[in-house]
Amino acid sequence: MGDSVTTRQVEIVEVGPRDGLQNESTVFSTADKVEFIERVIAAGTRRVEVASFVNPKRVPQMADAEDVLKALPRRSGIHYVGLVLNRRGFDRAAAAGCNEIGMAVVASDTFNQRNQGATTAESIAAWLDIAAAAHAAGIRAQVTVSAAFGCPFEGEIAPERVVEVAREVAQGNPCEIAIADTIGVGVPSQVTDLLGRLRKALPAMPLRCHFHNTRNTGLANAYAAIEAGASVLDASVGGIGGCPFAPAATGNIPTEDLLY
Ligand code: MG
Repeated sequence: MGDSVTTRQVEIVEVGPRDGLQNESTVFSTADKVEFIERVIAAGTRRVEVASFVNPKRVPQMADAEDVLKALPRRSGIHYVGLVLNRRGFDRAAAAGCNEIGMAVVASDTFNQRNQGATTAESIAAWLDIAAAAHAAGIRAQVTVSAAFGCPFEGEIAPERVVEVAREVAQGNPCEIAIADTIGVGVPSQVTDLLGRLRKALPAMPLRCHFHNTRNTGLANAYAAIEAGASVLDASVGGIGGCPFAPAATGNIPTEDLLY
């Protein structure tokens, strides 16, 4: 049983500097953000979501994304992930020197509109364009299907819908597809079901999961995800995080607890 939960290697992506800090009422200095990133790298993290390249008027906490990247030394084996929501964001992330980008496409149209001012179909089209540009530029590109279990505006999201969106974004040849429980409403049985469907639909695609802990199901969901074949998990130091456009969602699963 070489594939058991206890023997498989699972990679962690630290999302605290982005998902965590975007939701703080305080706007931290660039120097503090860089210090935070340096510390998680010193702790052994190899992939860090360092910033999002979004409209600074909508997310002022991320307004210094370029400055954060400028202050980080390039290191072999370390991936600085920039979150982007459209082509403009990708162009900024590429110019700033991100060696990996993550795009998000929301499984529900209402949330996609609120989060990124486009329909889900428009964001999928934007992702396909971004993916091609990233591949041409030698930048690693992955994509997240957000609100994959529930939407704060539309309620429960059918797993069939998530699989459909995942199939469409897979056309862009991402290095992995992530499934995000953006508002933290999923339970382990749903994770098992959804990942099973995704592995069947896209057998060769590496799967990452992103859980929020609104109902304290995050770590149980993470366990279920590994068991169901996820190879990468997002987490944030101290469990900080949330989404400015998702009312009442709380933080990510805490990195230190997940590791434990
Ligand atoms: Mg999140």
